Amino acid sequence: MTDTADIAIVGGTIVDGTGAPGRPGTVVVEGDRLRLLPANVPAPPAGRTIEATGQVVAPGFIDLHSHGGLVILDDPLHEPKVRQGVTTEVVGVDGNSFVPFPNRDDLDAFIEMDAGLDGDPPVAHDWNSVASLLSRYDNNVSLNVATLIGNSALRIAALGWDDVPADDAAVNRMRAMLREGMEEGAVGLSSGLDYPPGAYATTEELAALADEAGRAGGFYHTHVRYTLGDRYLDPFREAIEIGRRASAPAHITHFYHRETYPGGPEALLELVDRARDRGEDVTFDSYPYEWANTRLLIQLPIWVQAGGPGPLKERIADRTTRDRLRAELGARGAAYTSTAGWADVRLGAFRNPANLQWESRTLADVMRQTGRDLVDTLCDLLLSEDLRISQVTSGPWLGGMRQFAAHPHGMVGTDSTFIGEKPSPRTYGSFPRILGQFVREEALFSLEEAVRKMTSAPAARLGLEERGTLRDGALADIVVFDPATVRSTATYDEPRSYPVGIETAIVNGALVVDGGEHTGATPGRGIRLGRD
Ligand SMILES: [Zn+2]
Repeated sequence: MTDTADIAIVGGTIVDGTGAPGRPGTVVVEGDRLRLLPANVPAPPAGRTIEATGQVVAPGFIDLHSHGGLVILDDPLHEPKVRQGVTTEVVGVDGNSFVPFPNRDDLDAFIEMDAGLDGDPPVAHDWNSVASLLSRYDNNVSLNVATLIGNSALRIAALGWDDVPADDAAVNRMRAMLREGMEEGAVGLSSGLDYPPGAYATTEELAALADEAGRAGGFYHTHVRYTLGDRYLDPFREAIEIGRRASAPAHITHFYHRETYPGGPEALLELVDRARDRGEDVTFDSYPYEWANTRLLIQLPIWVQAGGPGPLKERIADRTTRDRLRAELGARGAAYTSTAGWADVRLGAFRNPANLQWESRTLADVMRQTGRDLVDTLCDLLLSEDLRISQVTSGPWLGGMRQFAAHPHGMVGTDSTFIGEKPSPRTYGSFPRILGQFVREEALFSLEEAVRKMTSAPAARLGLEERGTLRDGALADIVVFDPATVRSTATYDEPRSYPVGIETAIVNGALVVDGGEHTGATPGRGIRLGRD
């Protein structure tokens, strides 16, 4: 131990992430590690002393669902996240990871098909494994990045892009790639059962892969099959069943209740509680905003998307396919084909000059102004942008969201997306909204409990032992915020707005946010499972 610390944070209330009551004290940072001093011990001389009277000093927040994996390579400061106090985020979510891709053409095609969700920034696609992607993050980005392995990536490598069943040999190929990726540091398996080709996987196939992830010390992170069965409880029953059959922890991501569901949020949360009563390790994350955000492509049935971006584009250019789509969508009811039914779909991320007029406008606006019907509008827009369009739509019912946020096994996944003029406000405001609205204004749960759900709970889910709590010797990921003023300012109409009340964020011992401004530092690391 040296006599002079790098940073001393004095005068604040330490909320250590375990859920224990806040207490006065000093947090000392030396190199990339921290130690704690009680309030009655004088702080050591430090290169930098941060006065935190009236502020909370907590472990940096851990985000269990981010679409930042590619865009951060182009914009390493990742300001929407670090300004919230996020110091670690999980990418490769929704089955859509950028590893492993042994074949470079497949990676390029995958990035094209997924660009309306994860973006397509101008960076070289020069990795082909978990190890080589994680090394791209080391000391090159402002926060720590952990990656899951998506079952779409595994399927593309083992089976191609088509809607075909996986035989034993294909499952074994996927298991081997997953095992290798986890040995290189991936934290688990993800699925996104609305997104082809991962959506073509059966329950059994997913259970086999989740089993492999569990054996390697990882977990199963799932965007469930929302179209399954009753479209209410059945999708989540399948997720829990996969965890049970695999003996792997099952983590339901962006878990929420939709107002259109036939029952309330209680029945959804009861599925989790009952599974836990049976001894199954089921957890979830949620984001506290009403607005969902994904790629516009999700509006097309999964059969249209078979074969990858090339065949998909050929298909939607074809009259016969469009007629079949018209019949299929028409059968879902009038709301599915009327212009009014699409007023809720806000479009973004256009690049074709002819389409820039549609940025932040709704699908209904485009249909009205062009006089085209739903199918022609969707297909023409997607073709003219090489599929790269994002959408913001209504999602969680905020009334029910409070129950998810307060549940002891609920954590935070921002589901942050970074493209387009107006992404969902969840990208900029999820963590501060919980602290400002749910904790301070509505007193739904304590500040210590909120911090636990944002730090030690997700660290445990990810198998991180040296992050997520403030204790002697832990890695120094730290946030300092004002509990009296912290709040989100991001809204549906003005989503790109930073929160207030979060003055300091430290990643691996380096100041990334100082005085509420980004320092330009990029001390983040690729997280390797078991090695933090
Ligand atoms: Zn997502």
